[in-house]
Amino acid sequence: MNLFEHLEKYRYGEVHVRRDAESGLAAIVAIHDSRLGPALGGSRFIPYAHEELALVDALRLARGMTYKAAITGLPHGGGKSVIIRPGRAFDRTALFTEFGRFIENLGGRYITAEDSGTSVADMEIVRTQTRHVTGLPPKDGGGGDPSPYTALGVRRGIEACVKHALGRSSLDGVRISIQGVGHVGYYLAKELHTLGARLTVSDIDSARTSRVREEFGATVVPNEQIFGQEVDVFAPCALGAVLDDGTIPQIRAKIIAGAANNQLAEPRHGDALQARGIVYGPDYAINAGGLVNVAQEYAGYDEKASHAKVLRIYDTILEIVERAQSTGVSSDKVADQIVEEKLAKISR
Ligand code: NAD
Repeated sequence: MNLFEHLEKYRYGEVHVRRDAESGLAAIVAIHDSRLGPALGGSRFIPYAHEELALVDALRLARGMTYKAAITGLPHGGGKSVIIRPGRAFDRTALFTEFGRFIENLGGRYITAEDSGTSVADMEIVRTQTRHVTGLPPKDGGGGDPSPYTALGVRRGIEACVKHALGRSSLDGVRISIQGVGHVGYYLAKELHTLGARLTVSDIDSARTSRVREEFGATVVPNEQIFGQEVDVFAPCALGAVLDDGTIPQIRAKIIAGAANNQLAEPRHGDALQARGIVYGPDYAINAGGLVNVAQEYAGYDEKASHAKVLRIYDTILEIVERAQSTGVSSDKVADQIVEEKLAKISR
């Protein structure tokens, strides 16, 4: 493995590694950028075929966190940690206790949270060793499930896109399709229904679609038909890489704005949306509501302050889509430019 080549590719930064034979801990903490503040990002705990894959995952994800925090105006840089799931039996408490010590030794340069393969219970173990962990349950002074905040931010992003593309200040009567009504999709449907939007949804889990049909009067369609619905807004809230050469030509919505991470299959698909005149709310900017809430928790949890900050996602998305229209640059690249301009102003 050529470590420094990888660091060069993702423009790093610093990487910390910790191995503890007794507990089985093999962890990597990637700190991409801390010019705006201590690096914040979740901790993954999944098996990796080899350690280079784990490193690349940490580097790539931490870089994404820098962009997400910066576009949202949070006082944080981007970080991520990866714990390689041991191939043998292990004691979860011992492993996460050791991980907590590792985080503590970084002295607050990196703040961790739950991510794929880790749970709130794991973070409570980490908390026994360090205060540099966030995303804890309300009983521990935390903000709890981030999904309602993510959904609130997406709703605000949709409102900004609707204002920009349709000239409307209200969602009353606006037709919106949602792919995936899981944690975020459900709360988003609730928000939109309250504001008078007409909903069409799909999910591979019929219990989830039945629930939003019953509670919010949504029309349910088979998943393969969700892209071609005659709606004003399409909100992908299930999987990544859903906007590709096959799906983009089917889309009849004027706006795409949803919670899913990495919606563009490739960067060129942002240009394809721009060429079709579709207004796209970039994923990492529109889905930052949950991150706002965990950042607020680290600073001292205050529900009102968190809510107010999430509402501002409206301004962020409006700035992005207006600049995309005036410059002809696709909105995903405009978001990157805004972050890079912001970071360039701060000396290292
Ligand atoms: P979730 O697993 O609760 O919900 C996803 C839903 O999509 C499920 O109901 C699932 O059945 C459905 N689904 C899966 N494959 C599908 C398919 N092919 N077609 C239609 N539906 C399908 O996850 P979530 O927490 O709601 O997150 C949704 C997306 O938003 C993910 O991409 C996630 O990374 C992103 N996101 C979530 C948060 C958060 O706060 N939870 C924050 C930022 C980004």
